[in-house]
Amino acid sequence: MRVARRIEQLKPYLFVEINKKIAEKKAKGEEIVSFAIGDPDIPTPSRIVERLCQAARDPANHRYPESEGLPELHQAIAEWYKRRFNVILDPATEVLPLIGSKEGIGHIAFCFIDPGDIALVPDPAYPVYSIGTQLAGGRPYYMSLKAENGFLPNLTSVRDFILKQTRVLWLNYPNNPTGAVAELDFFNKVVEFARQNNILVCHDGPYSEVAFDGYQPVSFMQADGAREIGVEFHSLSKSYNMTGWRIGMVVGNAAAVGALRTLKSNLDSGIPQAIQYMAIEALNGPQDCVPEHNAIYQRRRDLIVEVLNRIGLEVTVPKASLYVWAKVPEGYNSVDLTTDLLEQVGVAVTPGVGYGQSGEGYVRLSLTIPDASLVKGLSRLSGWRNTRRLTLKK
Ligand SMILES: *Cc1c(COP(=O)(O)O)cnc(C)c1O
Repeated sequence: MRVARRIEQLKPYLFVEINKKIAEKKAKGEEIVSFAIGDPDIPTPSRIVERLCQAARDPANHRYPESEGLPELHQAIAEWYKRRFNVILDPATEVLPLIGSKEGIGHIAFCFIDPGDIALVPDPAYPVYSIGTQLAGGRPYYMSLKAENGFLPNLTSVRDFILKQTRVLWLNYPNNPTGAVAELDFFNKVVEFARQNNILVCHDGPYSEVAFDGYQPVSFMQADGAREIGVEFHSLSKSYNMTGWRIGMVVGNAAAVGALRTLKSNLDSGIPQAIQYMAIEALNGPQDCVPEHNAIYQRRRDLIVEVLNRIGLEVTVPKASLYVWAKVPEGYNSVDLTTDLLEQVGVAVTPGVGYGQSGEGYVRLSLTIPDASLVKGLSRLSGWRNTRRLTLKK
């Protein structure tokens, strides 16, 4: 048996080595405090879980689901976009529910990338943008996100011969892993750039509801003309602590949404219908859980930032997302520092290089760490000693 090249080419997961070290330590009975997991620790609000229990008892939901999603779910998504962003979407043609947004992010490459085509992909980034591109036979062209540009890509630096082969542009704000945000004037420029070069914009925005200090992230769909050249992926995972239920959506350009609908109708049979009812409840019901969770994350953010600055890991305070992106002190790279934190104080973080070459020089800490572990983790981090500083300054 020989696996296909598209599977062979998938590089072994970069965190394998670090996960191995964590497992060894745990096997020896050491307790590791992990800031490495980007998955909300707080459970799904009970009103949403109650709706599932109710829907699970209805035999109508035991059969194949409405595979494009229930019309009521399309409607709930469109109404949420109207309420939250004042963006008007046609529920039938400009909205498509997904089995978690990751599913759609991976699959849309098969709708727009032919072998040899290029997708512009930010570096560092969530890995699925480039993996989907590669699985479809395309090539990612990496756009480096730099601190001095607020972790926004410099679109004008992409050369013409690259643009001629480019079909898709990936963006993600509020950003994982850097915590950076984008404003409407940037998205307006993105629309202009995509129009000029005939490129589909795929904006991934699962953190639009996870924001602090009263800040409200914008949607790419608010940009002038966005629906003519782009789509936005969104998810209930981070907004309502629903990563385990697998509900996301894509909205925007009807032809692009339609292409993904066609692909998916040949591959899957939709979100289990009882779970679609959960999504409707999440979107239509009271929204108090959103600010409540954000207050918890904001408090954790402040505690983490304070300790990191004290031990010499420089950070920009994030306005949104679930992550703190911390600069590695001189004398370390991201893997060195991750290993050292693990060995010295039993704390796990994520090395930035795992998100791409331009993530080198940073580590990511997640705000989804339960409060009890957070306190322990911060006290351990406070005891970390930078052993490379003295040798370097000699
Ligand atoms: C968490 C995350 C997603 C995936 O969300 P699901 O809807 O749970 O699949 C997509 N993009 C980014 C950047 C994420 O961090």
